[in-house]
Amino acid sequence: MRSWIESANDADCHFPVQNLPFGVISHSGGPPRCAVAIGDRALDLAVLEDAGLINAGAGERVFGQSVLNHFMELGKNAWEQVRLQLSDLLADGGNDVLKDDSDLRARALIPLGQVQSHLPFRVAEYTDFYAGRQHAFNVGSMFRDPENALPPNWLHIPIGYNGRASTVVVSGTEIHRPLGQMKPHGTDEPVFGACRRLDLELEMGAVVGLPNQMGEPVTVREADDMIFGYVLLNDWSARDIQAWEYQPLGPFQAKAFGTSISPWVVTKAALEPFRTSTPEREKVLHPYLREPGPMLYDIELEILMQPEAAGRATSISRTNYKNMYYSAPQQLAHHAVGGCRMNTGDLLGSGTISGPEKAQYGSLLELTWGGKEPLTLDTGETRSFIEDGDTLTLTGWAQGSGHRIGFGECSGKILPAPAEKNW
Ligand code: MN
Repeated sequence: MRSWIESANDADCHFPVQNLPFGVISHSGGPPRCAVAIGDRALDLAVLEDAGLINAGAGERVFGQSVLNHFMELGKNAWEQVRLQLSDLLADGGNDVLKDDSDLRARALIPLGQVQSHLPFRVAEYTDFYAGRQHAFNVGSMFRDPENALPPNWLHIPIGYNGRASTVVVSGTEIHRPLGQMKPHGTDEPVFGACRRLDLELEMGAVVGLPNQMGEPVTVREADDMIFGYVLLNDWSARDIQAWEYQPLGPFQAKAFGTSISPWVVTKAALEPFRTSTPEREKVLHPYLREPGPMLYDIELEILMQPEAAGRATSISRTNYKNMYYSAPQQLAHHAVGGCRMNTGDLLGSGTISGPEKAQYGSLLELTWGGKEPLTLDTGETRSFIEDGDTLTLTGWAQGSGHRIGFGECSGKILPAPAEKNW
């Protein structure tokens, strides 16, 4: 399938007509509204809705809103209906109404370089999981020992913690290095100050579109139906703060200062051809966690690092989402089975995605093995952890034949820690 928007047909374009990811943009001083990305353009859905060209079937307009939540709440039939309407308007040989109306095109199709992206949905709550086996093994090997790297529950439960929705931000938002308590090796007492071991975590985020009821379990298949789509997610992490605070209740301040997501939510419909199965189980899972079919996706992922003065970024890791041990529907089913209500706009972080090879690790903690083996960037600079002024970018796509279902970028620059107060 090709589009009459020529840039959408480039083989390495992230947003071909097969993708149609949803986001929220503003442009020309106007208010935020819902959009899809197509080629090098954002397509303003509020303009199309006002023109009567798309209709989510709600009886009211949903795309002039500043978040996707209202559209997501309408459910699977509405998601599919709008996708079909958009596909028809944008594909070669479809409905020519938009293609042939230059005034409408000028109002609805805005160059991506001229739009501001906003957080695409109101994040209800944010849960972060720990579903990457290689990551859990690496971290367990560093902090405990390789013989007992995986905690005893790991092969039975998708482990997670309840994170902060308040500091989930859209790509491009700058993040301050956090202040906190740390206990460096060889010291008897903790110190207070700016984090010294600042890290990123390469993850995918699953966006919950439909709720369950409190106290009402869902099957893995039902959980899959509740998911609207996926984004790239960087779970920024303060390793030294984390190491001192994490026992016994898990990460707290070390993960609360910022979580970045990519601006475009790629729908399950676009990812459907790339479904793949989770790896063979080492321990038989309880029935409520068993998958009725492939629930992961084959998505190639990359991390880029660019120091402040560097002219270009260095690729520091290449991996794939299909390396995960648990899928997002399994995580969602596990959340709900205990009685937890999941809401429209809930965000589930996959856990750090590390492949089996060193060049495939999804965090600096692993790539530099706790800071002991610094990376050398293309500029000749070395990095054990993130320095002030560094920009970290995640990117990813599912590779089709002749096209890519892309996620765009999830980027963030680290600013110095805030000035300390006169405590
Ligand atoms: Mn994480």
